[in-house]
Amino acid sequence: MTATFDDLCARVQRCFACSSMNHVHVLGDVNGRLDADVLFVAEAPGRLGAARTGIPMTSDVTGRRFHSFLADAGLDRDRVFITNAILCNPLSASGNNRRPRASEVAACREFLAAQVNVVRAPVVVALGGVALESLRRIEPHDAELASHVGRAIAWAGRTLVPLYHPSIQSTLTRPHDRQRRDWRRLGKHVRFALSKN
Ligand code: SF4
Repeated sequence: MTATFDDLCARVQRCFACSSMNHVHVLGDVNGRLDADVLFVAEAPGRLGAARTGIPMTSDVTGRRFHSFLADAGLDRDRVFITNAILCNPLSASGNNRRPRASEVAACREFLAAQVNVVRAPVVVALGGVALESLRRIEPHDAELASHVGRAIAWAGRTLVPLYHPSIQSTLTRPHDRQRRDWRRLGKHVRFALSKN
């Protein structure tokens, strides 16, 4: 890891800008390699997932679905970097995961922008609407999740692909088989982008 990334991780560890949060600060070597083929941006560390293990997309249903989709796309976990629009775990008063507030996503955006800058993956994947919107605020794009899912969009000198978040709740909007197809399309976009590099 470079000094720049180490500095970024150290700054994140010291951040307590959001008050109503489990401050797990999931960013480090465990997120993946800086020369990744794909940068995945999800929503937030989950209570039973990264908030518990410290490793993105592990230990819960979302993590298992993510890895199954990775296999559908023909992608290797060792070749990707996984992060979130916010780096801590937003909890409700009853202790369950909740959707991050716009103010929290805004507060963490400088860290997301820094990661986009440091992780020079040719393909960036927004996993869900929260990530897609935060990336839009970093560099404008016209993508909407429902209409652009699985499509390759030119963005910031790279390819941006919107996908649904791999949580089981997303199947209420996008059935599982459709999501598998979306991920297979992602695999093609990644192979095409890599062939041009
Ligand atoms: S979510 Fe981001 S901005 Fe909020 S406290 Fe955690 S690191 Fe800081």
